[in-house]
Amino acid sequence: MRALQMVDTKTQYGHIKDEVDQAVLDVMNSSAFINGPAVRDFAAQLATYLSVKHVIPCANGTDALQIALMALDLQPGDEVITPSFTYIATTEVIALLRLKPVFVEVDPQFFCMDPVALEKAITKKTRAIVPVHLYGHAAPMQEILAIAERYGIAVIEDNAQAIGCDYFFDNGQKKKTGTLGAIGCTSFYPSKNLGAFGDGGALFTNDDALAARIQMIANHGQSKRYYHDVVGCNSRLDTIQAAILNVKLKRLDQYNAARQSAADFYNRAFAECASLITPQKASYCSHVYHQYTLRVTNGRRDALAEFLAARSIPSMIYYPVPGHRQKMFAAFQTEACSLPVTDLLTEQVISLPIHTELDQEQLSCIEAGVLDFFKS
Ligand SMILES: *Cc1c(COP(=O)(O)O)cnc(C)c1O
Repeated sequence: MRALQMVDTKTQYGHIKDEVDQAVLDVMNSSAFINGPAVRDFAAQLATYLSVKHVIPCANGTDALQIALMALDLQPGDEVITPSFTYIATTEVIALLRLKPVFVEVDPQFFCMDPVALEKAITKKTRAIVPVHLYGHAAPMQEILAIAERYGIAVIEDNAQAIGCDYFFDNGQKKKTGTLGAIGCTSFYPSKNLGAFGDGGALFTNDDALAARIQMIANHGQSKRYYHDVVGCNSRLDTIQAAILNVKLKRLDQYNAARQSAADFYNRAFAECASLITPQKASYCSHVYHQYTLRVTNGRRDALAEFLAARSIPSMIYYPVPGHRQKMFAAFQTEACSLPVTDLLTEQVISLPIHTELDQEQLSCIEAGVLDFFKS
């Protein structure tokens, strides 16, 4: 049996090696390393895939979030509401821009922003809401967008873990996550559902003015060379990465389907285990399983991780410390910031290997490892 890994990008590469190698060689021979044709091509292909008007590539997902906030032209001290239960990149950029992260609770079923908590956290200073489609499951966007509209607040979606996820509105409309709010952000970090062979990211928007502003900010605040209108940054997607992403985008649906079938296997395998809650899926969306995350309800999560490790079955805790308990945010940890659901999830969650290359033997081995622990 192939060794178990949280992600297996090497085996995945093996299946597309000829096409990827040729795409990289083409870039090398063209020497168009910066903003080459593959970057424009990829942005256009991704815009078509997502049915969104503008895709602006950038250097990584963290930059995408930072640029999105910069594009909204906020003032120091303005408040940005975001879940505490997310990867640090979501919240770090808020503080970096001298804005105030306001941490809210997530729903214990879907691990995403709780709309009731969101509405309670809104103040006169709230300028943006950053929901996260965590683990590949969409946040309840219909409710979040309705609240945002009522208060006139912009929504930036952190779609780094959910590229390809479908959202179904009550009126029958179907859209891709990341295209629902004012701006969507994603990451092409190698382990993401659409992963490059290095860093990469992108922003999505249907708003022409915002797209122009984003483009300008990502390019030193200039729209005409050497004329800098706003303070920006230097954030580009390498041509080599764009060329590789072009090869992989064609397979994104197939990759997400492979993740979904591994998740279906786990869901069936663990359905009867009283101490486990398998990941739930809301009827309003699909699930692209960036992570397969269980809740261990008998207090033995860390013991399970050790038991699995002894059998060479990897697992991860995403994330061991929620934002509102991170040292870097000490200044924002107020009395009001009590998030019991987030704290509980932090103690209960464990993620199992999930990727496009898991075979039956590997899945059965992981199943046996988990079930044996609860028999022991
Ligand atoms: C990966 C990730 C990011 C950041 O992406 P990078 O490309 O690593 O900068 C942001 N938010 C979430 C939820 C992520 O999972």
